[in-house]
Amino acid sequence: MTYLIGVDRDNTLVEDKGYLGSEDNWKEHVKILPGVIEGLKILKGLDAKIIVASNQSGIARELYTAKRAEDVCNEITRMLKKDKIILDGWYFSVFVDATYAEHAGIKDRKWIKNDGMRKPGTGMLKLGAKENGLDWTRLVENGKVFFIGDKDEDMLTGINAGGHSVYVPSKITRKEHKLKVKALKKKYSERIYIAKDFVDACRWIEKKIENL
Ligand SMILES: [Mg+2]
Repeated sequence: MTYLIGVDRDNTLVEDKGYLGSEDNWKEHVKILPGVIEGLKILKGLDAKIIVASNQSGIARELYTAKRAEDVCNEITRMLKKDKIILDGWYFSVFVDATYAEHAGIKDRKWIKNDGMRKPGTGMLKLGAKENGLDWTRLVENGKVFFIGDKDEDMLTGINAGGHSVYVPSKITRKEHKLKVKALKKKYSERIYIAKDFVDACRWIEKKIENL
C-alpha cells in the first residue's frame, strides 16, 4: 500500500527568514536548502505520494495574500522541476484558530476558523491523500503517514495522523520550538526521529518503509 509523506515548506524545503512572500522582491529570497534535492530524490524512489503542507499565518496576519502564498509554492515547484522533481500536491493553511488570532493580534474575524487545516491538524494531509486517490482511514490505521519538518507542530502532525515524524534541524528555528520537539521525542520516542539533516531524514523514512 502506498505511503503518504508530508513535508513542511519553510525552513525545511526552502530558507525562510520570516514570512516568505511578504516582500516585493520575494523571488530573490526563495532558496532551496542544502540536501533537499538529494533527499526528495530518495523519497521519489519510494512507493509514496509526497505532498507539501505549510502553515501560512502570514495570510491571516495580512502580510501577504493567499495568491502570493500560491505564487511562492509555484516558484518552488518550478525550481524543483529543474532537477526533475515533481511533488504530488502543495497545500497551505489560510485560517487560524481564536487562540492563535489573539496571540498574533489578528483582529479580522474572517481569518478565524477551525477548519482543521492548520498544523498540527491533519486536514492538509487528509486532502492530499484524497486528491491522490489514497484511503485516509487506512493510511492512519496502518501507520502509513510520515511528516518531515522543523517545528513541534510538524512533529505533532505526523503523530496526529497515526504515523511517524522526522525533525530536520534548521538554523532559523527558534529555541522554544527545539525544546518542544525534544519533549515530544521523549513522549513519542519510537515515532519521532531527530535527523541530522534533510537527507538523513529521507534515508530514515526509506529504511522505515523497508522494514514496516
Ligand atoms: Mg517550517
